[in-house]
Amino acid sequence: MEKTITDEQKRVHYNCSKCPAYCCAIYERVQVTKRDINRLAKHFGVTVEEATKRYTKVWGKERVLRRKKDRIFKEACMFLDPDTRGCTIYHGRPAVCREYPARTRCVYYDALQFERRQQDDPEALPLIQLTFRKVHKKTVGDQNGKERRKRVIGDKRKQVNGK
Ligand code: SF4
Ligand code: SF4
Repeated sequence: MEKTITDEQKRVHYNCSKCPAYCCAIYERVQVTKRDINRLAKHFGVTVEEATKRYTKVWGKERVLRRKKDRIFKEACMFLDPDTRGCTIYHGRPAVCREYPARTRCVYYDALQFERRQQDDPEALPLIQLTFRKVHKKTVGDQNGKERRKRVIGDKRKQVNGK
């Protein structure tokens, strides 16, 4: 996702053109709204029904973009160009992609630059994986018989907000 810097915009400290597109790959779901699907339909010149079926799927109670296999990451958004690592539907991309990362820094770009400096290798490509687990608290007894609350990491994967 390229960012055009104008006088009205804050200076950003990341460069999507020099990134393998972590944000288009490591999130399991990129949520789409009805408006996003309408935009997709217009972009491809198909009906809303066709766009819904071809480009999206249901995830839990939400509709998300479909994914495909990726040669760098295990999977990525179906619209990510595998070679250029750019978005192939830039003007038709969903709102969440337009807003991301909504900050002047991108943590993944920072990690990429950090590792390249650490490894002294400008081509190093850290494979970042993002996994969410459900965390809840339960009451357990300690050695003195007193009860205390403990954080428990559950096995169930939490469905997370995409980008
Ligand atoms: S992970 Fe960050 S730097 Fe890389 S493409 Fe996404 S927003 Fe751009
Ligand atoms: S629609 Fe484009 S910007 Fe959004 S996740 Fe897919 S490839 Fe990335």
